[in-house]
Amino acid sequence: MEQAILVKYGEIILKGLNRPIFEDLLVKNIRAALRGLNPEITKAQATTYIHLADESMIGDAMERLTKVFGIVSITRAYVLPKEMEAIKEGTAQCLADVLAGAKTFKVEAKRSDKKFPLQSPDICREVGGYLCAKFPHLAVDVKAPEKTVLVEVRDTNTYVSCDKIKGPGGMPVGTNAKAILLLSGGIDSPVAGYMAAKRGVALEAVHFFSHPYTSDRAKEKVLELAKIISAYTGGMKVHIVPFTQIQLELRKSCPEEQLTILMRRFMMKIAERVAVNNKAIALVTGESIGQVASQTVEALGVTNDAVSLPVFRPVIGMDKDEIVERARMIGTFETSILPYEDCCTIFTPKHPNTKPKLDKIKASEQLLDGEMLIEEAVRGIETIFVS
Ligand code: ATP
Ligand code: MG
Repeated sequence: MEQAILVKYGEIILKGLNRPIFEDLLVKNIRAALRGLNPEITKAQATTYIHLADESMIGDAMERLTKVFGIVSITRAYVLPKEMEAIKEGTAQCLADVLAGAKTFKVEAKRSDKKFPLQSPDICREVGGYLCAKFPHLAVDVKAPEKTVLVEVRDTNTYVSCDKIKGPGGMPVGTNAKAILLLSGGIDSPVAGYMAAKRGVALEAVHFFSHPYTSDRAKEKVLELAKIISAYTGGMKVHIVPFTQIQLELRKSCPEEQLTILMRRFMMKIAERVAVNNKAIALVTGESIGQVASQTVEALGVTNDAVSLPVFRPVIGMDKDEIVERARMIGTFETSILPYEDCCTIFTPKHPNTKPKLDKIKASEQLLDGEMLIEEAVRGIETIFVS
């Protein structure tokens, strides 16, 4: 029996005249996610239909679609003719295995082809009655059934399904502008990237790399994190910025307790240059209020002052355990906790300033040639595309 995947979307339906743009982007992103599976994709009535040449790949395709933002549900459906006898027999045949293991069920019907002779309640009754006769162990339970059989009579075919999985929600990546994600090797920034992408923001990442204080394995780890996120964004550029020179200069010239906040400001400024050079119009970080010394409200204010682009901090109000939970869900946690040193821990002062004053920090910055250091770091960027 021919099978298809039905993809439904939520929020984008609400976008009025922009709807075709949103739908086209969603289809483009679905196509990218299903690369190699040769999908045939059609749209009708707020649903996207996907047919694969090799139906044994449907499970794999559905798994991939759980990472495409904008999708609300993903259903494996059987394609049947629009004729009642064929619908009843086909349903019993296709769902035999699923129903064999259940005790209770109900049938729901949707009839978007209003010319179909039977109305939805009649379809339910006919199919339900047929299934009860065919599978005597089954009882109907309309309130809390183990299995819900959905029969959708649409313009060209009838689609029968029983297995619906939740999509990731959000908006298709690319429906919003591009931002630069400051991606460390930690737990928080990959989650921040995921959350921005979920709202349709396209991402490129910057990572500040302190060779030889941090090893190539630390860099590999960040690229691995970027790769996991790129399953949600459809590929991603990662700009690796050489940061050691700046850290050494800061350590040589500035008060130790200011080092973290000074480093954070340099990171923001360099990320802003990368944004301008790559047509991105915002920055995204994994900062959360009060989590560490450099994330007090005062410190965040001083960090923010370094740039004029908007800075989004999607995990700003989350506790660490909430961020960890999300990291596990998106698949970055295990990589984030690999024990490679990161560029900030090595240069972290023993007693960091938790209430930095902007004028004092700016005065320290006057002690070095910031512009020259930034330009040199930007010149040294290595850009890697991960997917
Ligand atoms: P994370 O878990 O994301 O590393 P964190 O709690 O360790 O965050 P910090 O080290 O203070 O916090 O960093 C705050 C934010 O600054 C990070 O979430 C990230 O966005 C950015 N950041 C820190 N270090 C780097 C780095 N080496 N490269 C790129 N961005 C960085
Ligand atoms: Mg960190």
